[in-house]
Amino acid sequence: MRYIRQQIFKEIGKKGQEKLGKSTAAIVGIGALGSNSAELLARAGVGSLILIDRDVVELSNLQRQRLFDENDVGKPKALAAKEHLAKINSEIKTDFLIDDLNFGNIGKIFGKKIDLILDCTDNLETRFLINDFCIKYRIPFIYSSAVGSKGYVFDIVPNKTACLRCFLKEAAQLDTCETAGVLNTTTSMISTIQANEAVKILLRKDFEKNLLFFDVWKNELSKIKVNRNNNCVCCIKNNFEYLNGKKASKIVKLCGDNIYQIKTRRIDENQFNKLKNKLNNIGKIKHFYVQNIRTNILGSNGKNYQLSFYLDFGTGLWKLRI
Ligand SMILES: [Zn+2]
Repeated sequence: MRYIRQQIFKEIGKKGQEKLGKSTAAIVGIGALGSNSAELLARAGVGSLILIDRDVVELSNLQRQRLFDENDVGKPKALAAKEHLAKINSEIKTDFLIDDLNFGNIGKIFGKKIDLILDCTDNLETRFLINDFCIKYRIPFIYSSAVGSKGYVFDIVPNKTACLRCFLKEAAQLDTCETAGVLNTTTSMISTIQANEAVKILLRKDFEKNLLFFDVWKNELSKIKVNRNNNCVCCIKNNFEYLNGKKASKIVKLCGDNIYQIKTRRIDENQFNKLKNKLNNIGKIKHFYVQNIRTNILGSNGKNYQLSFYLDFGTGLWKLRI
């Protein structure tokens, strides 16, 4: 009975619903786009979801990240999302990972059968990593991005469409939510289109082949034809520079208030606890979870810095907010 309205819709039907129930989709980045898409797919009955995000919920996220509420502030997003999704649909399986997706762990994380990846990240380097992985292992994925009142969605199905690197050349810094802001209507619109395309791809239905562009402020919609680039380094030459780590940078600027992510060597739990004590001596610890410390540190210039450390499989990750 739960899915009756969806089953009546002739493009889905009972068989389609069963197919969705047997499908697995991973969502990388549980921010505004990822949390909204995850909610829609959970409600639609996609049987297994994998949620990946290294970050914690902040007050400034609540303006657009509809799955979260004030009680979640300070909690890892992937965990908070899992808890909310379990209340929305207890019949599906949801796995979560508080982690940064990188070339060292992507194989382990997506090692088992996966039907689709939703790219809801905030930086091009991670997008290109997903692009490499999906082209190499022939997994469809859906690119989404939103800044200001504008957003893009693009379905990438290996051998059928262009890939991201056919038209985005390098991991250059583009406009971010920090410099241009973002409307909750933009992220809602883009994630809705993304979830819709996800259902079509999971059901092997005809999907959108164009790059979709929306400007919600101007009510503009464009469909942009993207051809495969005959010299594409990824989908033609199969040179997976981001997946083999050649292009992985140690410092990545993230979408946020001047946040930099710095990759270091991995530390174990013992070292992690020592680090916590050290940080406690020089600054005020704001949050402490098993996998995540966040501190406020007063610099010698009188400015406040925020430093977070994350444990993950392959690397240690510092996040510095200045
Ligand atoms: Zn390509």
